[in-house]
Amino acid sequence: MRTHIIHIGAGELNYEIRNIIRVAERLQALGVKINLENIGDPVAKGEKIPEWMKRIVARLAMEDCSYGYCPTQGILETRQFLAEQNNRHGGVRIAPEDIIFFNGLGDAITKVYGFLARTARIITPSPTYTTHSASEAAHAGLPAITYGLDPHRDWRPNLRELRQKVRYNPTIAGILVINPDNPTGAVYTDEDLMEIVHIAKEFDLFIIADEIYQNLVFEGHRTLPLVEVIGDVPGLAMKGVSKELPWPGSRCGWIEVYNGGRDRDFAAYTRSILNAKMVEVCSTTLPQKAIPDIYRHPEYPVYLESRRRRYQRFSDLAYERLSAIPGVVVNRTKGAFYMSVVFEPGLLNGRQSLPLQNEDIRELIDELVEAPGVALDKRFVYYLLAATGLCVVPLTSFNSELNGFRFTLLDPDEERFQNTVETLAWGVRQYLSSSGETAKIPGEALVMKAHAAAR
Ligand code: PLP
Repeated sequence: MRTHIIHIGAGELNYEIRNIIRVAERLQALGVKINLENIGDPVAKGEKIPEWMKRIVARLAMEDCSYGYCPTQGILETRQFLAEQNNRHGGVRIAPEDIIFFNGLGDAITKVYGFLARTARIITPSPTYTTHSASEAAHAGLPAITYGLDPHRDWRPNLRELRQKVRYNPTIAGILVINPDNPTGAVYTDEDLMEIVHIAKEFDLFIIADEIYQNLVFEGHRTLPLVEVIGDVPGLAMKGVSKELPWPGSRCGWIEVYNGGRDRDFAAYTRSILNAKMVEVCSTTLPQKAIPDIYRHPEYPVYLESRRRRYQRFSDLAYERLSAIPGVVVNRTKGAFYMSVVFEPGLLNGRQSLPLQNEDIRELIDELVEAPGVALDKRFVYYLLAATGLCVVPLTSFNSELNGFRFTLLDPDEERFQNTVETLAWGVRQYLSSSGETAKIPGEALVMKAHAAAR
């Protein structure tokens, strides 16, 4: 090209949650039966959308106005409804003007980071949902700045590290919290949230809280939405319908701006996000129209509760099985629908393997694991996928130095989910015990059992 055309942050845009599917497809072509456990899409995993919800959407689909553009910020009645819902919490009050709709939170996330000054950084948790860390890093053209979540303390944030990094890095303008969290399934305690707000206030920062899983907190646990703890600190909460209804294909999410008028720079920044949306015209109309009717429906809380209970039961089931394996750290999920398993440091090496069905599969896996820079947990994930068809995501792909993997609690079929957990347990034990020896060749009872389980 005549001039340089590659964005400074292009190299940061890597979404392993979907990249791994390319490997799965190649293995499928070689006869491996694939079980996708990599994407947080309840519908793809077989969640049945209730009739009453479909009827609301079907009725709206018969109205001509559902086919038009909507106002840039989103449909006023829906924003009024959401502002009223928010104002039921004790905390900052918002007006419909403080809400902006996007084409899914993915769109909101790229704009929120994309319209920050290039030199302004948001410190993100580690591990973190990749869209945040990748978009933030791409905006700066530099690797993400992170604070750790600690698997040995129920994934609680390392607030001492957060404070130190904020103190000594004046480019940090804001703190990201994902609550409940993807990929760990943790929820933030009141105490931790308040300390984060305290740090933001002390160093004149704003807070971004991704609360897309806020209504998927399990029984016996609780967490506060940002609006209840933020006080007078400027902030943004991110919400959406992808996980909760669930309707990820609607591409519908929104941000709520808290204390937008309290800081001139913050006000100008949020205005630029709105202007960016205006240039783009608006977001999806029909799902916005559906939101009030779905949220107000008497069956909605019942449906949500049944899903929460199922995820919690599945988390308990997986926890009991996986936490018994020496060498891994597992925590029960407290919200959202993910579980992350961490390998103790030093347990993985570049020689471990799992038994593979045939030479073609072995050749493909050799090619993948021998590529330069393949993380040790990714190596495990490739072997697991090739040996059992089970597709999980390496933890290092969530901008983390911890080796491990994430899977979901989404499969609505309990027997199939149990099989998935058995396959994981088998894969972890077998891989760790292979300790660099070439794993035994197929045909072994254990391999067959794993394959049966993967199905
Ligand atoms: N935020 C978090 C924490 C997520 O886990 C996801 C999807 O997995 C998203 C945002 C993206 O949501 P959307 O479908 O609205 O783009």
